[in-house]
Amino acid sequence: MSSSATTIITSKRVMLSSEQAEPLPYTIHVNNETGKIVQIDQGYAPEKANIDSGNELIMPGIVDAHVHINQPGRTQWEGVVTASHAAAAGGVTTIIDMPLNCIPSTITTDALRLKEESFRDGMWVDVGTWGGVVPGNHPHLVPMLEAGARGFKCFLCDSGVEEFPPVNEAELRKAMTELKKKNGVLLFHAEMELPTPPPPSKSNSTDYQSFLDSRPAKMEETAIELVIRMCREFAPYVPCHIVHLSAASALPLIREAKKEGLPLTVETCFHYLTINSESIPEKATEYKCCPPIRDNENREKLWEGVLDGSIDFVVSDHSPCTPDLKLHPCCGGHGVKDGEEGDFLKAWGGIASVGIGLPLIWTEGQKRGLKLQDIIRLLSEKTAEHARLTHRKGKLAVGMDADMTVWSPEESIVITKDKIHFRNKLTPYAERNCQGLVLKTIVRGNVVYDAELQDKATGSTDACFSAQPLGQWISDPFQNGIKSQSRL
Ligand SMILES: [Zn+2]
Repeated sequence: MSSSATTIITSKRVMLSSEQAEPLPYTIHVNNETGKIVQIDQGYAPEKANIDSGNELIMPGIVDAHVHINQPGRTQWEGVVTASHAAAAGGVTTIIDMPLNCIPSTITTDALRLKEESFRDGMWVDVGTWGGVVPGNHPHLVPMLEAGARGFKCFLCDSGVEEFPPVNEAELRKAMTELKKKNGVLLFHAEMELPTPPPPSKSNSTDYQSFLDSRPAKMEETAIELVIRMCREFAPYVPCHIVHLSAASALPLIREAKKEGLPLTVETCFHYLTINSESIPEKATEYKCCPPIRDNENREKLWEGVLDGSIDFVVSDHSPCTPDLKLHPCCGGHGVKDGEEGDFLKAWGGIASVGIGLPLIWTEGQKRGLKLQDIIRLLSEKTAEHARLTHRKGKLAVGMDADMTVWSPEESIVITKDKIHFRNKLTPYAERNCQGLVLKTIVRGNVVYDAELQDKATGSTDACFSAQPLGQWISDPFQNGIKSQSRL
């Protein structure tokens, strides 16, 4: 093979997959045309390499399977250029967009094409999308899978935007009957209104507790009972997935369902693992999301679920909006009505965090016995599997996309403004001290982010990013996720 056609990347510390016990020296050869790994040699070989990462850790690129890009339609909340910059700066090589908060919602093949068109020339990392299930759109589901949707998301309660209504059991059954034809995965926002709503909170609405009281864990448990029932009814043909689990009290239900062999997977988010409700300041609406961040005891139980595999992986659920909709004090009155500043009950729910998850989870995880292997499993492998991308992403092996996160797990960092690249900078993580510095992000062999190129004098990070958007739209037709059990 001629060296002009390949990029050679070497490091003394490489983790090829979560099966590897500890980092080892490897040299990875990438075909420049296809972006695929063509050869992996044991050993560190700086003399041959185009990219010598020395002692920096190379691992499979992070796949964040839950990001709200909001483009087209609400690009002022977030757009593909800023979201993919943020991803690149955080070692995230693939993001999968959610079907709501953009306009139109991604609920038809036409909307899917419109999104693809809108994202063209704006992707700094690879981007795919979930479709949505809403009442009556079941005839669109199979064509959308064929057009590259990774699967579908639905709501069992109000989604927060009127273009994306929730589904009831009868509508779910129609959708799942369609998904059964292709073994398409269905993602559930698992919160449901209770027959008896919770009593009004005794706390002031600028106090986080007021919001927490309004969304008890029971709302998640009730929804998860329904998800499990539907999953059982359509097993093994329609894999079901619970997005952003917050209530640890639902873990026993989930463990039972998994023991029963149901095709059920579960994600949680960086915020549920790294923040507890007791520490949320007054009026700090940047912490508001649905389901809510709960108390510290809940958080520790979620960690147990992560470490024992009951929770399959961790994502950002990056869901930003403009600061005025957050009714945030930082807004200085811009668009915020008198008396509404810092009102947790009225503020938009969603936490901005794409690209800052790795140091957050690594810092908190190490205190609880989390290993590098777990990081790869939770952030890269299982999320790639969830997005039906195991043929390309989630591991470093011959034939796979050369997507890599290059970082220093030992280095301490502060999440300062120059590390926050998404459009609206309001986030609970500003000024947080962490461990884990992302140094380079490589997408299909291309360096899309290089921390070393930051301008030391001005602090500008412009030069860190590749001049061209080298990310690609992921349109691979949906791959059957349950090979051995299907077509019985
Ligand atoms: Zn979400």
